[in-house]
Amino acid sequence: MRSLVVLSFAFLTAFPLSAQNWVKNQGAKTNQSSFRAIEEWPDPNDMRNAAGSPGSKYWQQQVDYVIRATLDTARHAVTGSERITYRNNSPDRLSYIWLQLDQNIDDPQSRANLIAGALPQNIPAQARAFLAPEPFDGGHKIARVQVVDGKGAKANARYILNGTVMKVHLDQPIATGQSAIIEIDWSFNVPEGGRNGRGAKELVRDGWMYELAQWFPRAAVYDDINGWQTDQFLGQGEFYLEFGNYDVSLTVPRNHIVQATGVLQNPAEVLTATQRQRLEQAWSSDKPVFIVAANEVMTPASRPAGNGPLTWRFVAQNVRDFAWASSKTFVWDAMGFQYRPGDKVIELHSIYPRDAMPLWDSVSTRAIAQTMKTYGRMAFEYPYPKAVNVHGPVFGMEYPMVAFCGARPGPDGKYTAGLARALISVTIHEVGHNWFPMIVASDERKWTWMDEGINSFLQYYAEQEWQPGYPSNRGPAKNIVNYMKQDRQVPLMTESDAIQTQFGNNGYSKPAAGLVMLREQVLGDSLFDEAFRE
Ligand SMILES: [Zn+2]
Repeated sequence: MRSLVVLSFAFLTAFPLSAQNWVKNQGAKTNQSSFRAIEEWPDPNDMRNAAGSPGSKYWQQQVDYVIRATLDTARHAVTGSERITYRNNSPDRLSYIWLQLDQNIDDPQSRANLIAGALPQNIPAQARAFLAPEPFDGGHKIARVQVVDGKGAKANARYILNGTVMKVHLDQPIATGQSAIIEIDWSFNVPEGGRNGRGAKELVRDGWMYELAQWFPRAAVYDDINGWQTDQFLGQGEFYLEFGNYDVSLTVPRNHIVQATGVLQNPAEVLTATQRQRLEQAWSSDKPVFIVAANEVMTPASRPAGNGPLTWRFVAQNVRDFAWASSKTFVWDAMGFQYRPGDKVIELHSIYPRDAMPLWDSVSTRAIAQTMKTYGRMAFEYPYPKAVNVHGPVFGMEYPMVAFCGARPGPDGKYTAGLARALISVTIHEVGHNWFPMIVASDERKWTWMDEGINSFLQYYAEQEWQPGYPSNRGPAKNIVNYMKQDRQVPLMTESDAIQTQFGNNGYSKPAAGLVMLREQVLGDSLFDEAFRE
């Protein structure tokens, strides 16, 4: 689904002209009102019309991927090969394509690793770990970059690498309406949790688990605002990607369970008959059903008979990214969700190591269902066929159809009500990011508030509907008073990597509180909700 972020009109129309506050400053009359019109707002044009919708000449690029990748659990490495079909819908001829190589944030030459070498020898270990994680042989290792011509002939492409971005030159520029095909082979070592990158591995009680994200060379966005968006990935500004279709084959050890963006194409090859039968039961169940129960983890009967690795194939239509998780340690539960009887069933899945029980089995999938309900009503109904929540080392991160969430009971299996709420909230938040920004495709590398703020706003209502009176952190205005009284706060339109402190207060809490006030105190819910859904 393609759309623009066009919420600002609600702010612009909410205040009467009588609130204007004209002052004379050095002879010039200046409007100092907080409610003055935003003069620098761009005029409507062919790309964005006056009603806030895409204009008559609006375009977006389309980038499709076919990827084959193998997870090597001895070396903790992923080796992949991809074919990118880049369709140029812009009015411009393109003689090169920029790609994002986010794993390069962990390259030994990256900023974070260079800092490590420059630190004094005698600083405390905790400070060192904070300032610069241990050196790690991370980053994309590029083995092949080729352009494929219309007859299928392949030729090596000239490319340059600069930190987390790569420019691939095309001998034949892509004209408007035409496509180019690029093939890339690469590999990388999966970092441990807690580093800069967004994918990670972790050794849990039953073995290693892997969360793989920002893991393949992805085309940068070419749009009418930025041209090529080539900002470096520094960790804080997340991503901005083109929509496309994905066909991804993931080869992993036979004892692994895999979940990913997209619909599993070959269940008969990678699941047992019992598991396929349980999935069918899950789709009509109103509570989670175990597909792999805790006492089945790593048992031979839980995997198809045979030897050697298995390849799981997933296909996703019209998404901006692809993430996956793989481990022999996963418990798996699932249930179906429908907006109304007779609708297509949306698959809700949770996978987690046994360390996450009890808690994940009782909370995770239900919290996904709550997100479907609240966000579906307040924004738009979830358009994708499935949503997955994965427990592992990444505390909270979002990808199309896939969320990575933390919150784990202690080794004794005990957890507090606060920890349970942490899981409920982070699940709603990360699954909620499917709406903002995965579908309403804002530029996260530049603008944190557009996805985090609007998502935190909806999260507040999902939490209140989960349990009336839920102690929501973000949304209520009283929770942001201390921040709003400070001189150090920065405007919402501060680029993501330039927000030095209070990232959460600025990017998440302030816009969420503002939207709640606009809805509940200024416009009223019926008028606000009508505008917000539009
Ligand atoms: Zn977020």
